[in-house]
Amino acid sequence: MNENSLLEYFNYIVRQADMARTHSQKHDLKFRENCQKIRETIEKATPKKPNWIYDDEPLCPYCGEVLDGTEVHCDECDQRLDRSEW
Ligand SMILES: [Zn+2]
Repeated sequence: MNENSLLEYFNYIVRQADMARTHSQKHDLKFRENCQKIRETIEKATPKKPNWIYDDEPLCPYCGEVLDGTEVHCDECDQRLDRSEW
């Protein structure tokens, strides 16, 4: 997910929040779901260090996929990677 789509999504959340304020439990529930999604999106966009189970085999900190050391994002789950230890 690139920065633009993240911003679009944020704007969508704000619109949902407006609706939720004025009415219904349905919108309130939708709002909570979307808040959760955006939290996950921000988490994945925040670089994380890989897990080093074995010295020569870094694993994705989110999904556990084996990384080959060239990725900026995990191929499997799109987690952004902090490559400072590579
Ligand atoms: Zn992953």
